[in-house]
Amino acid sequence: KPRAERQRLPVVPQGIERDAFLQALAELKEELGAENLEVNDKPLTDGWYMEHPNTHDMMTILDEEELVASAVVYPGSTEEVQQIVAWANKHRIPIFPISMGRNLGYGGAAPRVRGSVTIDLGKRMNKILDINPEDFTCLVEPGVSFYALYEAIQAKGYDHMWIDSPDLGGGSVIGNTVDRGVGYTPYGDHWACHAGLEVVLPTGEVIRTGMGALPGNNTWQTFPYGFGPYSDGIFSQSNFGIVTKMGMTLMPNPGGYESFMYTFPKEEDLAPLMEIIRPLRISNILENVAQLRHVSQSIAARGLPRSTFYTGSGPVPSSILHAEAAKSPVGDHTWAYYGMAYGPSHIRAHKLALIDSEFRKIPGARKIDPSTLPADEYFWSRDRVAAGIPDIQELRWVNWTPNGAHVAFSPVSPIRGTDATALFELGKKRHEQYGIDFWPAFCVGLREMHLIVEIVFDRHDLERKTAALACLRDMVDDAARLGYGEYRTHLVLMDQVAGTYSWGDGALMKFNEKIKDALDPNGILAPGRCGIWPRRYRGRGWEM
Ligand code: ADP
Repeated sequence: KPRAERQRLPVVPQGIERDAFLQALAELKEELGAENLEVNDKPLTDGWYMEHPNTHDMMTILDEEELVASAVVYPGSTEEVQQIVAWANKHRIPIFPISMGRNLGYGGAAPRVRGSVTIDLGKRMNKILDINPEDFTCLVEPGVSFYALYEAIQAKGYDHMWIDSPDLGGGSVIGNTVDRGVGYTPYGDHWACHAGLEVVLPTGEVIRTGMGALPGNNTWQTFPYGFGPYSDGIFSQSNFGIVTKMGMTLMPNPGGYESFMYTFPKEEDLAPLMEIIRPLRISNILENVAQLRHVSQSIAARGLPRSTFYTGSGPVPSSILHAEAAKSPVGDHTWAYYGMAYGPSHIRAHKLALIDSEFRKIPGARKIDPSTLPADEYFWSRDRVAAGIPDIQELRWVNWTPNGAHVAFSPVSPIRGTDATALFELGKKRHEQYGIDFWPAFCVGLREMHLIVEIVFDRHDLERKTAALACLRDMVDDAARLGYGEYRTHLVLMDQVAGTYSWGDGALMKFNEKIKDALDPNGILAPGRCGIWPRRYRGRGWEM
């Protein structure tokens, strides 16, 4: 038989006998229909971004079998999600919801507890329930991707509304938003832009948050708060509920847009540049989550393997990177800033002139004329994303190594020269220690920035995977010692990152655990996600 059809023994979650587990699966199959439950007993295949597996992390940094599902179920409605939750409570089986499972770099589709039953919400619950052209809002189910939402708005001819897409447009709007992902238009803070949730709780009840709680309301997507405590927050980066519907606000078409790019010659330009960026960004002259990228990653973004440039071990020497950069239209500089100005041309001209005079204070700063850039230059991918047009070119840098996979280190800091330099030095030192190419990209929010450092490794090379993970772990600890924490992280690092948020003798985690135990007394929903373990698991060696 071909490899893909041979059988593996299905993983059984800890704490339940194999026979009892198989019996429980048979029961659920009966309830949902045979076609809506798949046992994960085939060899694991990684696929690629658009045809990714839902059984495991296609970019695993551990052994492939570590974080795998025992089975995957496909609910078709909120009621069926409730049925699955009731079943999990009855048999004490861990379940793990995903929307589409394209959360690459943060764990993909994998569950945190081996042998969990993955609830793939997106496959059948993929409807756009509403697009409201007057309120500029929409209401979506978990299987709606940024591409699908974009295309639906285009198909309706709603030229006056934009969506906001993250770097990769194939992911789920709900999945990305609940994990607090970001995009690159002025609506880039997805969590801040959502309005209203429908959530299945771990004991099976359904709630609607905000105005959704008021029967007959017509403001669920326009007033996010409703009345009383604002509960939405506990359903992001948590394991407190399964989101089955979410409202999202849409951006008005700004009436024109123009991408721009500046490059800066030296590594040391980073600090003064941050001092220039901060006031421009806070006052919204720089209007979107803009990126300041190191040349090392821009070269990789062309999609060529590292071996094209260098076959030695350790990081590609900087002289080689610069020689490569010199051959491209962008030229031999160290930093590239990608931004966009929005609005009609006279409005843009005003903002662009201010930006130009500020950026040129860095000696040697260059403005790149987009008309000189070829169509496949990375600039144009940034241009599409910042205009709310989904794209997947960002992923080209995983070609850097054979079997390329990536995990990100993403600390948050103020937009300051001293902080940028501290994080840059910290990352550089650890990358050199572990012989890894260093790709710092600063994503400037409004009053803070995320440094995103993607580590790309060969997922079939145990030595390189081990080095990548050790480097990530060291950077998390180094950063915490300096007072920096990650805004989001990979499944494997969740315990460690949660542990750095330890003020007041771990007061915040104690609070999270109280909520967890109250909402999920049997501890069935995504145990361990974001470092939150239900009582049944705590202190039993599950943390890693
Ligand atoms: P995407 O495909 O957009 O990248 P995922 O579906 O992989 O997003 O979701 C990212 C993570 O967020 C998942 O691993 C899961 O832990 C959580 N998540 C996603 N969708 C939901 C949901 N509907 N309800 C609760 N948690 C979710």
